[in-house]
Formats: sequence, structure tokens, C-alpha cells
Amino acid sequence: MRLKGKRILITAAGQGMGRASALACAAEGGKIIATDRDIALLDDLAGQGIEIAALDVTDPQAITRLADSVGPLDGLFNCAGFVHHGTILDISDEDWAFSMDLNVTSMLRLTRACLPGMLTRAADTGTASILNMASMASSIKGFPNRTAYGTTKAAVIGLTKGIAADFVRQGIRCNALCPGTVDTPSLRGRIATAADPVQAEKEFIARQPMGRLATVEDITPMVIYLLSDESRLVTGQALLVDGGVTI
Ligand code: NAD
Repeated sequence: MRLKGKRILITAAGQGMGRASALACAAEGGKIIATDRDIALLDDLAGQGIEIAALDVTDPQAITRLADSVGPLDGLFNCAGFVHHGTILDISDEDWAFSMDLNVTSMLRLTRACLPGMLTRAADTGTASILNMASMASSIKGFPNRTAYGTTKAAVIGLTKGIAADFVRQGIRCNALCPGTVDTPSLRGRIATAADPVQAEKEFIARQPMGRLATVEDITPMVIYLLSDESRLVTGQALLVDGGVTI
């Protein structure tokens, strides 16, 4: 039970890596609060000992309300994010603002709202952990048609390092998770809407030297590690789980 008794809030837990993380962390004894914009996607998690709550991470009032209602946390996993497809020539001001708001500002707001409670937990227990979802597509590596996305995920790494530096002496750790290409519903959507879906899937696989897409189960062990005390000396890092893309 690597997360026994730890109260952990996860955003975008309705599907994909957020959902898999909620289930995996609960299986390790975590007291999980799974949130998503679409509460219907969380219904069946409620039957598995997980608290659920609606949260659109782009709604500042909803963030404040939720942070107040959940009380002090031991862990926070900011998982919500959106992939904009296109070069800089395709990015409207509205697209840019939307990506920054959903992928970066939401993490700032939710972390700012939860941090006072996490500091009280860390004062009691010695530690609390924040995990921010970044990507290999970030300051780490550029990819075609990912300028807006990569910029936001680079900002997530910057946000992560800033939080880590400011609170390292108060028991707060903050790290960024940088997956490769993971087989999730939104990836399937990106493949389905490509001009040639069969070719698009081949290209996603081809860029992973290990020869396959990641599964959500490839990612959750790193989530558990970073939210648990096993990673007690790890902070301010961007940790890759990318099937060898960035070797
Ligand atoms: P996904 O994109 O399939 O699911 C995302 C979930 O987010 C959905 O349940 C959706 O309802 C929820 N959501 C969307 N907008 C929201 C909002 N405003 N507030 C709250 N919830 C909202 O899941 P995924 O592919 O596992 O992606 C999760 C995170 O991982 C994202 O930040 C993404 O950028 C990142 N990521 C994904 C991949 C990949 O290949 N899938 C790789 C690296 C990083």
C-alpha cells in the first residue's frame, strides 16, 4: 500500500491517464478525489471507493469552491490538458488563449488554491506532493503541429520548477510527468480525425523507438511513485516515460 491514507485530488479523471491514475492510486490505498468536467464519466469510480466531484479546471470559482470543500490534501495531480493541432500559422489568438488557460493557468489556480492545505499536511507529516502533467512535447522536444501544445507543456515544466524551488524547505515536492504517445480516448480521436487515420496511427507508433504506443498502465507506476514517499528526494524534475523517443 504505497499511498496508504494519502488524500489525493486528480483532475481529468474521467478517462485516459487521469482515470487510470485514480484507479491505480486507490488500489495503493490512496483516498482519491477524482474530478472531471464531465461528471458522468466518473460515475462508476464512485462505486469503487473513490470520491467524485465535477470540476471544469477553466472555471476559477469552481476551483475555489472545490479546494475549500476537500480540505487539506497530501497529493494533487493536475492532469487536465488539451492538444492543439497545427503550426504557428494555424494558431488563432483564441486557440492560444484556450490552450494556455486549460493547460497552464488551470494548474496555477488549482495548485494555488490547494497549497495552503498541503502546507499544513506537510507540516504534520513532513511531505506533500504535486504532480503536473506535461509531455515529451514541451521544452524537451519539438514535434510537427504541436507549437501551441508544446509551449503550454514547456510552461508546465517552468511552473513545476518554480513551485518546487519556493516550497522545498516546507515539505512540498512538485514534479512534472512527461509521457510519450499514450493510447487514450483523445489520442484515438486525433487519429480518427486525421486525413488518413491508418497512416496517422502508423506515424504515431513509428516515432516511438520501442515500437508501440504507451498504454495508461505504462504511465501509472510513475504517477504512484511521484505521489508516494518513495520519491521523497525527487522535486522540480520533468520525468519522461516515452518509450525511448528522447534517447
Ligand atoms: P484524454 O485527453 O483522453 O481525457 C481527458 C479528460 O479531460 C476527459 O475525461 C475530459 O472530460 C477531461 N477534460 C477536458 N477538459 C476539461 C476541463 N476543462 N476540466 C476538467 N476536465 C476536462 O486523456 P489523456 O490523453 O490521458 O490526457 C491527459 C493529459 O495527459 C493531458 O494533459 C494531455 O495533454 C497529457 N498527455 C497526453 C498524452 C497522450 O499521448 N495521450 C501524452 C502526453 C501528455
